[in-house]
Amino acid sequence: QDVDLVRLIHTITNTMTKAISEKNLEVTLPPSTESVIIEGDPDRLNQILLNLIANAITYTGEGGSIRVSIEITSSNVRVSVSDTGIGIPEEYIPRVFERFYRVDKARSRNSGGTGLGLAIVKHLVESHKGKIELDSVEGEGTTFTVIFPILQ
Ligand code: ATP
Ligand code: MG
Repeated sequence: QDVDLVRLIHTITNTMTKAISEKNLEVTLPPSTESVIIEGDPDRLNQILLNLIANAITYTGEGGSIRVSIEITSSNVRVSVSDTGIGIPEEYIPRVFERFYRVDKARSRNSGGTGLGLAIVKHLVESHKGKIELDSVEGEGTTFTVIFPILQ
């Protein structure tokens, strides 16, 4: 099935308007006048991007910024979700894709998550023959990049 990633990103973000405005976050998305179509399962792609955008909102403080961007290369589509949030300490980066793993429970306690989101995301990305990368600096911010191959 053909899925327009730009449209999907806008639809997801529209469902999160309340949390975004409560935290006074500045959100930058790819222009809604463009479209980037990939072959995939719409529900799964929705779940991947929803989890990453929800995390960016949850783990970014008042007045921070979130940017979702799409880059197309000859062989891949790369979707990045960046935030200026709390970041992930280097020693925990390898662990965040584990089921039920949450960095510093005390710190994220009031966000009420289960620690399953990223484990599911990784599984879904891999079922699309994709890859997920993570760059983060504690106290500065985090970027998750999902890389989907362009199937010819
Ligand atoms: P849920 O299952 O509701 O998504 P969760 O958000 O705690 O719960 P994951 O989405 O799997 O679980 O994330 C695992 C942990 O990775 C989080 O608890 C948090 O510590 C860290 N994390 C994830 N995304 C970010 C981010 N954008 N910035 C900082 N830390 C993050
Ligand atoms: Mg989460």
